[in-house]
Amino acid sequence: MINLLHTQGGGSGFRDPEVSPEGPTTTAPLDPETAQRNAQLVEEYAAELYNAPAEEILAWAHEHAPGPLVVTLSMENTVLAELAERHLPGADFLFLDTEYHFPETLAVADDVEARYPQHRLVRATAQLSRAEQDEVYGPNLYLREPSACCRMRKVEPLAVTMSPYVGWVTGLRRADGPTRAEAPALSLDGTGRLKISPLVTWSLEDTEAYERDNNLIIHPLTRQGYPSIGCATCTMPVAEGEDPRAGRWAFANKTECGLHE
Ligand code: SF4
Repeated sequence: MINLLHTQGGGSGFRDPEVSPEGPTTTAPLDPETAQRNAQLVEEYAAELYNAPAEEILAWAHEHAPGPLVVTLSMENTVLAELAERHLPGADFLFLDTEYHFPETLAVADDVEARYPQHRLVRATAQLSRAEQDEVYGPNLYLREPSACCRMRKVEPLAVTMSPYVGWVTGLRRADGPTRAEAPALSLDGTGRLKISPLVTWSLEDTEAYERDNNLIIHPLTRQGYPSIGCATCTMPVAEGEDPRAGRWAFANKTECGLHE
């Protein structure tokens, strides 16, 4: 039985979703020397890498990062896993297991773990299980307060899991929508860690061509009208030619989960 009996939900009997469960929610600070080195690297290389090929960006990361890196994988595609195997040896893989994923997404995660055994797959989970969240915050929080649900099941678990790393590799693509149109290939996140996005210049077609040419693990739903895949509860298929992220949180005025803010 979890110990979260006090409630702050304005008489609803449930806890205020703005108040996360007790426990760590943020990334540990970097040591000052690493923070300074990261800032120098961004200053020196961000412009040069802005439109660089993915292979070059990852090779740069392997050469320059002043410590361990982690590659975040949504499992929507496995391009980053393949590229990391070739150009970023030793990096861990990270999957945010929100417990709301499609079974197909979990199957891809298992397949990635089997295909790339030289990369440890870290599965980050929220402090509360899905059932515990329902009990404490009320059922279907994703419908009522999707930002709070994303904060507790994605943003905070990612932040906590990021502590041992000096930087992270993301699958951001500028083509994924207006909120990402200017995404840099190399920047600092809010904790001073390197945020490295080797696929920023790739289109959806580039991604599919790379998957085909390299016989990668394919998420089956990407061939069934879901070009952008998040939690099953919050992802709808989109029509041909529509913004790929239009199917994310289609029931709410929300387009980002907060991981890239
Ligand atoms: S995508 Fe939906 S279910 Fe998943 S963490 Fe965000 S609000 Fe919750």
